[in-house]
Amino acid sequence: MIRTDFLDLPPLAAVQGRVRLPGSKSISNRVLLLAALCAGRTTVHDLLDADDTRVMLDALRALGCGVRVDAGASAVIDGLGARARAVRADLFLGNAGTAMRPLTAALAVLGGDYRLHGVPRMHERPIGDLVDALCALGCRVDYESAPGYPPLRIGAHGALRLDAPIPVRGDVSSQFLTALLMALPLASAASGPDIVIEVAGELISKPYVAITLELLARFGVAVRREGWRRFVIPAGSRYQSPGEIHVEADASSASYFIAAGMLSDPTVNSEGLLIEGIGEHAIQGDVRFIDAARQMGGQIESGPNWLRVRRGPPGQGWPLKAIDLDCNAIPDAAMTLAMLALYADGPSTLRNIGSWRVKETDRLAAMAIELRKLGATVQEGADSLHIAPPVVWQPAAIRTYDDHRMAMCASLAAFNPARLPVRVLDPGCVAKTFPDYFETLFAAALPANDDDRQSGIPVICIDGPSASGKGTLAGELARRLGYHYLDSGALYRLTALAARRAGLALDDSLASRADEVARIVRLARDLQPRFEHGDAGERVLLAGEDVTAAIRHPQSGTDASRISALPDVRVALLDLQRQFARLPGLVADGRDMGTVIFPGARLKVFLTASAATRAARRQKQLAQQDISVTLNTLLAELQGRDERDRTRAAAPLKPALDALPLDNSDLTIVQSVDRVLTWWQARQPFSQS
Ligand code: C5P
Repeated sequence: MIRTDFLDLPPLAAVQGRVRLPGSKSISNRVLLLAALCAGRTTVHDLLDADDTRVMLDALRALGCGVRVDAGASAVIDGLGARARAVRADLFLGNAGTAMRPLTAALAVLGGDYRLHGVPRMHERPIGDLVDALCALGCRVDYESAPGYPPLRIGAHGALRLDAPIPVRGDVSSQFLTALLMALPLASAASGPDIVIEVAGELISKPYVAITLELLARFGVAVRREGWRRFVIPAGSRYQSPGEIHVEADASSASYFIAAGMLSDPTVNSEGLLIEGIGEHAIQGDVRFIDAARQMGGQIESGPNWLRVRRGPPGQGWPLKAIDLDCNAIPDAAMTLAMLALYADGPSTLRNIGSWRVKETDRLAAMAIELRKLGATVQEGADSLHIAPPVVWQPAAIRTYDDHRMAMCASLAAFNPARLPVRVLDPGCVAKTFPDYFETLFAAALPANDDDRQSGIPVICIDGPSASGKGTLAGELARRLGYHYLDSGALYRLTALAARRAGLALDDSLASRADEVARIVRLARDLQPRFEHGDAGERVLLAGEDVTAAIRHPQSGTDASRISALPDVRVALLDLQRQFARLPGLVADGRDMGTVIFPGARLKVFLTASAATRAARRQKQLAQQDISVTLNTLLAELQGRDERDRTRAAAPLKPALDALPLDNSDLTIVQSVDRVLTWWQARQPFSQS
């Protein structure tokens, strides 16, 4: 998961291969609550593992439900059987409307002593219409601060009035109706009346209500729907666990990949993109995004559980066709249409999207502001957007307003024909529904080649002598930028370790023993190392074994220096090193990164420090591994290695002509990182954000 302040996406040309998407948020949270409300055990497969489902799972635990989550993909819920075991609880629900609204209704109907609250934005999202409906029934729900908004306090109540139709407004959020539909079966009695809910005003987002009805049926409650105005819960309704249930992949999440497939250059990949986990007959309303996407010219095939997407042929599907569309049925995925409108042959209008204003942020205002930054001409109506594509695309740093969909939408600007990079601010907000969104996109995406470079992947090289702090600087830079990190010294150290383990003597005359050199070359070629980055730093694995400590031993450095003087070994490691250049970018450290491995790198830094400083740093490093070596020994060793590295025939240590020198003898790590980041920002078109 990327948790940086910003993420720079290089221009993208195409998507290829297949993607598997996380489970639907709407289905996941409904299923979790229904599983909690029935008696017995339910196993939920393909559950979404994200912020919004995590707050729901935590809430269910706090209410006394048995909850077991296996490897993030499935959950086993032991239901409460229509009665919360904990009749008092404080529930933090983040910014999850799909948790706040249905839990409010269910707990209000059950009665008890509950407090429901969330992040500040949740306290700005309206819930008054639902609370009014619940209070009219006889439930006790009070506002803790602003009337009409969470935080809420729920109390105990007497008999509920269920014999008259229960009115609820449908024009602010369909979640109010969904919440009542899920809660009221708890109050149903065999001897009592049918429970009737009547919608006042035009019901928005009907497809979400359809999901609710479908899932209620799976849990044994067959609601009778009369148009979209009256909903009847038959007397004696009771939740029953289906035992097992599968969650479809999220249709709204699919929309970004459908869009990416439509923007994908067929001369780069003609096979299109395969999206797994969802087909066009999914129960989620947002799957109807497909119809709009086809209308714009996208070529979309579908099977029971998959979609394949391609760009349409020139003149028919490309550029995309502008649309004028009522988007009421696909409120979330319609944001993706706003992005596609940037690639259309004229201005598009998205109508009936007023509900955007009460989502994670005011999405109408946010989208208008950010699309303008990209160069589009946008008119923001009360409940519509009119978008004319950019005449000239602009490099932009897109704000995301703590809204996952703003961040995922922003990534689609990276397909711009002007081949400009796009900056996404606070990319980590995708965690709400799709924590690995960017990783999934990068695994499928191909960068647009730029004219003067070997590939479109941004690379920063940190060259310099041993123990100059390259590794620390490069690793930290990579972390701040969300880029991959190549520790090339580790590859030489690993090769040397493998050679030692194969019983080879790495001595002064090694170069003259051709068959042994050939064996080392083979070992280098078959290395297949794994680098894992965790909170405890980098772990290096060779054939599954953790060799982090072994390759950090001083002997390993000396061995590496020896074998790295063999030209054939260097060639053998060339491809492996270049493979580290993957989206969204790479920071590579090693003495020849900017000269031999990535000569076209966008930024090259030649890092130095005095020999004394380097020796002192290495001593400190070794002390952390309980290895004690005197300063003089280290100094002599470093100077010897510098000399060998400088004078050797194969890749002698020397700065690239276009490298910026940085002597960090008197700089802290943070200062060095900031210096290099400033240089990097100065090379970005949106450096002043
Ligand atoms: O950077 P580190 O100390 O891990 O590197 C170990 C040795 O591997 C260096 O002293 C150098 O001789 C060699 N090396 C190299 N080219 C690289 C990285 C390391 O020759 N790109």
